Amino acid sequence: MTTNPLLCVTVTAPTTAELRRRRDLITEADIVELRIDSVDDPDVAAALDGRRLPVIVTCRAGWEGGGFQGSEEERRRLLHQALDLGADYVDVEWRADFSDLVSRDGGRRIVLSSHDFAGVPADLDERARAMRSTGAAVIKIAVKANRLSDCLTLLDLSRTFGEEQRAVLIAMGEAGLTTRILAQRFGSAWTYAGGVLDVGQVGARKLLEQFRFRSIDANTAVYGLVGLPVAHSVSPAMHNAAFGAAGLNAVYLPLPAADVDDFVAFARGFGLKGASVTIPYKVPLMERVQQVDPVARQVGALNTLKMDGEVWSGRNTDVSGFLQPLRDRHVTVRGKRAAILGAGGSARAVAVALASEGATVAVYARDVEKARDVASLVGGTAATLPPASDSWDLLVNCTPLGMHPRINQSPLAASAVTRGLVYDLVYNPAVTRLMRDAATAGADTIGGLDMLVAQAREQFEWWTGVSSPASVMRAAASRRLSEFNSDEDHLV
Ligand code: NAP
Repeated sequence: MTTNPLLCVTVTAPTTAELRRRRDLITEADIVELRIDSVDDPDVAAALDGRRLPVIVTCRAGWEGGGFQGSEEERRRLLHQALDLGADYVDVEWRADFSDLVSRDGGRRIVLSSHDFAGVPADLDERARAMRSTGAAVIKIAVKANRLSDCLTLLDLSRTFGEEQRAVLIAMGEAGLTTRILAQRFGSAWTYAGGVLDVGQVGARKLLEQFRFRSIDANTAVYGLVGLPVAHSVSPAMHNAAFGAAGLNAVYLPLPAADVDDFVAFARGFGLKGASVTIPYKVPLMERVQQVDPVARQVGALNTLKMDGEVWSGRNTDVSGFLQPLRDRHVTVRGKRAAILGAGGSARAVAVALASEGATVAVYARDVEKARDVASLVGGTAATLPPASDSWDLLVNCTPLGMHPRINQSPLAASAVTRGLVYDLVYNPAVTRLMRDAATAGADTIGGLDMLVAQAREQFEWWTGVSSPASVMRAAASRRLSEFNSDEDHLV
């Protein structure tokens, strides 16, 4: 398939008048899907009147996940009317008894659709064959992806379609996002964007601006963030902005893998070039990598993968990412007493980083055994939280305390924060309660955003060999965080 997919924006509304109003607000789409089953007063003529963009008219039955309240006869009448009035396409469910609609014009202007909201149907291939034999112009198959690798099933299916009959192949849900963004790979005639969030649609603006949908082609290099969950990560915003600014033909996707095998199958199937790795796969993926750098080995976890064909390499950029903001501020760590709060994944990287620069490391956690485990990486000491107030020169928060939305929390009482340097790995909000208390006590502070950007910059440079655009990445991260905090992310 060589044709680039179109962008179809789905419009729903409570009334036909509002459907028209929303239809006319859309400027960035190639085609608009009018969901007349979403309105209380379906009126095809009014919905089509004065349209500026090509349209697909959909009147989805309740038994196929739609909102139409009337009879099947009424639905059939509305769809015939849409064809009479020159709709570019009408969407007809394969399971509907509407063969008259499909055959009325030899299948032209018909999108024959099938939806499975639970998973990938066992009879997918047969279903596709039966649908194609109707002669419908476009065959739309939407399945629910419960795993990333469900997308591969659709990729296989896409290879059975030729140029004469187009397909739209969609995996619904978060694990299926790849089919929407990389619609080109699936030979899809278009991708749907909009506000139908329960099936995993993405807003058109996000698709165009963050994922640069229009520039994705057969040669686009694919990267991603593997973890669970990954929906609220800022990494896709940072890396996609960096690819755009550097003029690279590459895209970065959120990849919520069900398990390690799911990710490995997906990565091989799509020829992934690299990935950021987050919880819970930082440790288990170590075993799947042929080359692990010594720092990642010492930490016992990786956060970055690079794929060169079958050879996978792993690194941990959290270590150098943590040190970079200290270097930028010309902070000398050597000989300082460092207190690390928390004993999770980031505490391990921070302990290795600080020890490598000559600090004395003490780890504090609510579970002293976990603190010991981290301290033993670098010959440090361990104790339960909190540290005595005069026991450190540099204090690093590696717990999530203070993170959005519980921004009033802090790992230390305000009275226990003294002079020195307080480095909070929490990056949302940019200034945490701990940092505010520290500044009041006269301490210097560093927030987690600097580290977040620094570790991402190193990933980017390792993958691409290109210098990373720091200010672009930082601005993208800040924008993503403010969208997340204001819930704007959920807008179309
Ligand atoms: P993690 O592996 O889950 O570890 C979290 C640690 O915090 C554990 O030791 C946990 O103790 C402790 N903890 C959690 N809730 C606590 C509480 N109420 N009181 C005391 N201790 C508590 O997480 P992580 O990956 O290390 O991340 C920690 C924080 O750093 C997160 O906010 C993350 O977003 C941030 N981070 C930032 C960057 C960056 O680039 N800026 C990078 C990595 C992480 P238990 O084991 O007892 O539960």
